[in-house]
Amino acid sequence: MITLETIPELKLKLAGIREKKLEIGFVPTMGALHPGHISLIKRAKEENAAVICSIFVNPTQFNDPQDLEKYPRTPEKDMDLLQKAGCDLLFMPKTEEMYPGKDPFVSTHKKVDLGALAHVMEAQQRPGHFEGVIQIVSKLFDCVNPTRSYFGQKDFQQVAVIRAMVKQLGYTTAIIACPTLREPDGLAMSSRNVLLTPEDRKKAPLIYKTLSEVKEMALCQPLDSLQEYGREKLGNAPGMKLEYFQIADAATLLPVKSMNDAPSIVACVALKLGKVRLIDNMILK
Ligand code: AMP
Repeated sequence: MITLETIPELKLKLAGIREKKLEIGFVPTMGALHPGHISLIKRAKEENAAVICSIFVNPTQFNDPQDLEKYPRTPEKDMDLLQKAGCDLLFMPKTEEMYPGKDPFVSTHKKVDLGALAHVMEAQQRPGHFEGVIQIVSKLFDCVNPTRSYFGQKDFQQVAVIRAMVKQLGYTTAIIACPTLREPDGLAMSSRNVLLTPEDRKKAPLIYKTLSEVKEMALCQPLDSLQEYGREKLGNAPGMKLEYFQIADAATLLPVKSMNDAPSIVACVALKLGKVRLIDNMILK
């Protein structure tokens, strides 16, 4: 695996790959890699001749400075995992490389109209987050110009935002959404899980348990009562501070009242467990 830190080096290397007309699979990450990330690399490996992974803890998508500061960073371990998974190229730029000479919060923004996506769930709880995601992912797409790009369904709204961005800015990459990998007790794998205290780690599987119960009950109970069930169960759990438990149209992420309101329906949740913010979701239909 080759590791590169600068955009010119990356573009030069990719030009060689493109000359051979090889398909490029791209997996953007913020590092602290776990098997969920590696599942994206493996899927990209199956479907493309060359696999590029990026690791960049993007400051502009963090709305909480403490979250950025505490974000886990494990570059040595990440490189080892990527090498073993068969990744061909790792792009690991410094902040100055992506945002040269300017305040990262004001430079290189591309305008995307997110419509309702800009007003619900993550967008509501984390002002500026998706603007930061669009800023960095568009910049990475400009550098890599991938054939296919791989994202996790764990960040459900992020996938919808990226799809809107690709459509509006005219990128040609295919967006492949991949299933959420979970720990044996159901907790969605996340780089932030290592920040949970041992006690909170024991409480965390309640999120998956509640989503699974709601999915089962969705076959026979009205959605508003299920939403109430989810909100009560997670809102009243000791140590948990619920931000939202929302049942929504999986395409628009707007709230729905009945299982007949949309072709696909998703339940999404965000909460704080101790000081750690966790998100998860489950497709109900
Ligand atoms: P992150 O490093 O958290 O920005 O994540 C990089 C990519 O990995 C994103 O597309 C995430 O949705 C995806 N990802 C994170 N956790 C998981 C997981 N448990 N299963 C599958 N994909 C994941």
